[in-house]
Amino acid sequence: MADARMVAGCACAHLFSSIFYNARVKTWDVIVIGGGIIGLSLAIALRKRGAKVLVVERGEPGREASHAAGGMLVDCSVETPPQLQPLATASARMYPEFAYELQVEAGVPVDLREFGSIVFPQPEHVHERAGFTLESLLPAPLAELEPELADPKRPAFFLKERSVDPRALTLAALKTAKRRGVDFSSGDAATAVNLSDGRVTGITTTKTSFHAPKVVNCGGAWSGQVAPHVFPTRPVKGQMLCLVMSPRGLVKHVVRSPEVYLIPRSDGHLLVGATVEEAGFDKRTVPATIKRLHRAALALVPRLADSRILEDWAGLRPGTPDALPILGATVTPGYYVATGHFRDGILLAPITAQVMAHVISGEKSEHNLAPFAPARFAGPRAFP
Ligand SMILES: Cc1cc2nc3c(=O)[nH]c(=O)nc-3n(C[C@H](O)[C@H](O)[C@H](O)COP(=O)(O)OP(=O)(O)OC[C@H]3O[C@@H](n4cnc5c(N)ncnc54)[C@H](O)[C@@H]3O)c2cc1C
Repeated sequence: MADARMVAGCACAHLFSSIFYNARVKTWDVIVIGGGIIGLSLAIALRKRGAKVLVVERGEPGREASHAAGGMLVDCSVETPPQLQPLATASARMYPEFAYELQVEAGVPVDLREFGSIVFPQPEHVHERAGFTLESLLPAPLAELEPELADPKRPAFFLKERSVDPRALTLAALKTAKRRGVDFSSGDAATAVNLSDGRVTGITTTKTSFHAPKVVNCGGAWSGQVAPHVFPTRPVKGQMLCLVMSPRGLVKHVVRSPEVYLIPRSDGHLLVGATVEEAGFDKRTVPATIKRLHRAALALVPRLADSRILEDWAGLRPGTPDALPILGATVTPGYYVATGHFRDGILLAPITAQVMAHVISGEKSEHNLAPFAPARFAGPRAFP
């Protein structure tokens, strides 16, 4: 016998109140495929609206691209595709509240830093100043801002950007989701979205099946591997390394040059990144590539020669054919997708969670999501 489920204490509970629990078959309101920063942030946003949410993760939550990321929150029209700029700016503005909430709820410091970024542009952009405003002028001479830079006379711009520690952020999101009652199934990949009369009824995994009338694919670089739709995501490999700065605060700002970028953390670590490679699902680092990145970092800041290498790694960004995310409802009623965040998924997590929670709840988003519509790829191809 079915029993209407009550969701206490949430003004939005009615949005999901048509969902019923069957005494024998456990049912969720929404299944989120993928426990990266996108899936976790969305699961929390849906849970806040009263939804009963299950996150299904093929490995361990938060161990893929969201673990590999640098954590720059880039909000710069020279580096962001124009169609994405409104979402990038909105998300950057949401960050202090987003990060603070996760940090406090989870008790995990996420190292949101506000020192800004020093950008050495591509030579062709130096004279154009395209996309840079008066605000982009350096607030002080380079030699004062970053005394250890090799060339304090090199043309540079300043951006009031923040950075965050993506590993800590993802851990905080995971803990927050659990504390708020999101359910998790780990070590089991979703293989197909199940349909009955053309509507979603749940998913099949490698080990079992789960039931929900709504499913959202947040599978990152692997999003295209779940039947019946093939989203055209592809893995774009990024290799990085981490130095332990000596002294601890040697570099204070994010520094971006065409060759390499540096992201300092408050614990004295410095991330050096990153390659952008088409290498399939290969996540191995290549010693010669790591050496090249290291050398480029030393060329920017010679005193980093005293800093030891702590770790190197590679991760797979979810790329798409037009370098824009895929966000929204698919042609299959009850099936949604939030993927393809490519180089900006950490930045875009708060706004993605917000707009997708609206879409999945049947509300209109205040943002124009047309450029990100799943349908732009000539309709989803049938799964082979
Ligand atoms: C080297 C590097 C540097 C980066 N730097 C930045 C940066 O500075 N700033 C920024 O904003 N972004 C950065 N990014 C990009 C950012 O990391 C990604 O855009 C973001 O992490 C994507 O999040 P996601 O949740 O979609 O993907 P992921 O974190 O990859 O999560 C997807 C999850 O889905 C799971 N999954 C996939 N398929 C299935 C399935 N069938 N069933 C169950 N689970 C499944 C995966 O195991 C994975 O855990 C960087 C990325 C890399 C690799």
